[in-house]
Amino acid sequence: MTIAKHMNNMRKKLNQVREQIVQAAMAYGRDPESILLLAVSKKKPASDIRLAWELGQRDFGENYLQEALQKIEELKDLDIQWHFIGAIQSNKTRHIAEEFQWAHCIDRAKIAKRLSAQRPANMAPLNVCIQVNIDDEPSKAGIDLAELAELALEIHELPGIHLRGLMAIPAPQATFELQRVAFAKLSAALDSLRQRGIDCDTLSMGMTHDMEAAIAEGSTLVRIGTAIFGERD
Ligand SMILES: *Cc1c(COP(=O)(O)O)cnc(C)c1O
Repeated sequence: MTIAKHMNNMRKKLNQVREQIVQAAMAYGRDPESILLLAVSKKKPASDIRLAWELGQRDFGENYLQEALQKIEELKDLDIQWHFIGAIQSNKTRHIAEEFQWAHCIDRAKIAKRLSAQRPANMAPLNVCIQVNIDDEPSKAGIDLAELAELALEIHELPGIHLRGLMAIPAPQATFELQRVAFAKLSAALDSLRQRGIDCDTLSMGMTHDMEAAIAEGSTLVRIGTAIFGERD
């Protein structure tokens, strides 16, 4: 495909996703401006990110640290907000603390403390979300709902991070109504943290196949890959 054609193609897809967000927001009485579109660019080349940036996209999500660091280096002339949306092992925290603006998959105090300690003093605190295992799936990442409040209370005052809210990847569901159930649980969990005095504002929920249900339940940040960049290998 020529670059012009590739650009047109991406413009069409990006506009379609933007339009879907506006439509879903309006259908559920939400302000479209309250929903941030995170473009998930894992396994896609830096050149695709640059095209999306030229079309006005500023927030990008990456899952694999080495791949992400290469793209960050290659695209450092652009004003991009980088979000780390993969699992975080202890040996990755330094790079994440130094190179990203957000981390979405915190499910242990130990990782949060390392990120806080390693965040450079001249940068704003790293925005983080706690990942919740919202459907109680065995062997899935995320903290159980029953343990969420304790973790949130433990990490929300760490100086190098800013606890922004919650993130989840629900189990696949066959219907829109069933998709809404898991998102509603995450939304209620955020409300209950707020009632405990933890000031947070972000629900990182909704992907290509369940974005509308997530918006219906209060998502403030949708993580969209396939619908923008096409299928991944
Ligand atoms: C890959 C990924 C996405 C994007 O998924 P799509 O179905 O391609 O929209 C969103 N969130 C996380 C955590 C991911 O790993």
